[in-house]
Amino acid sequence: MDKVVVIRYGELFLKGKNREYFESLLIKNIKSALEGIPCRFSRSQGRYAVEDFDSADTDEIVSRLKKVFGIHSLSVALKTKVGADEDFAPVRAALSECAAKATTLCKTGENGKRIPLRFRVTVKRADKRIPMTSAEIAASLGGTVLEKGCFKVDLTDFEVEFKVDMRENGFAYISSENIAGAGGLPVGCSGRGMLLLSGGIDSPVAAYLMAKRGMKIFAVHFSSPPYTSDKARDKVVDLRDKLTPYTGDVRLMVVPFTDIQLAIHKFCPASFMITIMRRFMVRIACRLSEKYECGALVTGESLGQVASQTVESMTCTGAPATLPIFRPLIGLDKDEITEIAKKIDTFDISIRPYEDCCTIFLPKAPAIHPDIKAVERAEEALDIESLVQAAVDGVEFF
Ligand code: ATP
Ligand code: MG
Repeated sequence: MDKVVVIRYGELFLKGKNREYFESLLIKNIKSALEGIPCRFSRSQGRYAVEDFDSADTDEIVSRLKKVFGIHSLSVALKTKVGADEDFAPVRAALSECAAKATTLCKTGENGKRIPLRFRVTVKRADKRIPMTSAEIAASLGGTVLEKGCFKVDLTDFEVEFKVDMRENGFAYISSENIAGAGGLPVGCSGRGMLLLSGGIDSPVAAYLMAKRGMKIFAVHFSSPPYTSDKARDKVVDLRDKLTPYTGDVRLMVVPFTDIQLAIHKFCPASFMITIMRRFMVRIACRLSEKYECGALVTGESLGQVASQTVESMTCTGAPATLPIFRPLIGLDKDEITEIAKKIDTFDISIRPYEDCCTIFLPKAPAIHPDIKAVERAEEALDIESLVQAAVDGVEFF
C-alpha cells in the first residue's frame, strides 16, 4: 500500500489576502527541505501531501518536515482507491493496517487483561457520489477496527482517531497519528534579518526564534585571529549548518575583528572595551545589512545575563545602529534558552571550548552601566570609519 505524508498548515489561514503568497513560500520551503529524496509534492483542495516516495524514506521525510516553519501538523497516511462498492474493501484493508499498528498502544491492566483503547473513526467525504453520509461510513468502518479485539468506540473521549479522507479523485487517505509540526510562519514571509552569531548558546537560539516568525536569516561572525583559532570559526560554521533545516540556507559572513580590538585596547579606557567593541559590531552588521537588504539586526542578548546586557549597556551598544535590533531572548532565563538549544541540537556545538573574540582583552572591571556620552568621547580616539571599512572589506563568506 502506498504511503503519503499529509501536511497541514495553521496560522496561514489568518492572513487573508496574503495567503497565496505565504502558501507559495511554504511550498518552496517544503520542496527545498526535501531536496535529495525522490518524491512528489501534491496539492489538491487546499491540502498538501508528499507522495511517490520509497517507504524506507518515510522517517527522514517526517523528520525534515517537522523543522519547516509554517507546518502545523503532519500525518503518515496510507493511500488507497475508495473502492467500487459500498463496502470500501481497499479502505478497510488500510484501516486494518493502521489499527494493527495502534494496538501497540494498548496497555495491560492489573488483572493481566488488555485495556481497550478508546477510538473513533472520522470520515471526510469530498466525493459526493458516495451515497452514504460521513457518519454512516464511519460507523461501518468502525467494525473493522473493533475486529482487532482491543478497541472500544468513544466518539468524544478517544485516545486514537482514525482519519479517513475520501477525496474527489477517487482516492482515500487513512491515518491515525497526528505529528506536531514546527508551527510559526514560513521563512521568508517576514523580511530579512542580520544575526550576530557568536559561538555561544544564545545567538543560534535567537536565529531559530526569528526564523519561526518567518524571518530569513543572514549571519555575521566577528573573529580575531590569531587570538581566536580556526576551530572557533569552524564551530560557528557548524552552528550555521545545524540551523539550516529550520532557517533554510544562511549566508555566513566572517569579519576580521583583530585590528579593531587592538585599536580599542590601545586607545580607549579598559572599562569600555566591551561596550565599544559591541558598538563596532553593530556598525559593521548594519553596513553588511545594506548589501543583503536586511531590515533588522538580531542578537542573542538577554536582560541582565552578563555585564554587557544591562539596560544602559544595550542603550550604548545599540545607539550606532541604523536598523532596529531584535533581541528575541530578552525576557528568557538561561535555562529556558538552554532548553531550546538542546531541542534544536545546537547546545553541544555551543559548549565546545574555543575562545570567542569577546573573551580576549577582557577588562577586569567592565562598565556595567556605561554613560553614553563618556563612551562617545572615548571613541573619539579612533578612526571609526576606516576601521569599519577595513573590516567590511575583509569579510570572508562561508
Ligand atoms: P552567546 O551565547 O550568543 O555568545 P553570550 O551570553 O555569550 O551570548 P555576549 O557574549 O554578551 O553574550 O554576546 C551578546 C550577543 O552579541 C550574542 O548573543 C551575539 O548576538 C553577539 N555577539 C557576541 N560575540 C559575537 C561574535 N564574536 N560574533 C558575532 N556576534 C557576537
Ligand atoms: Mg558569546
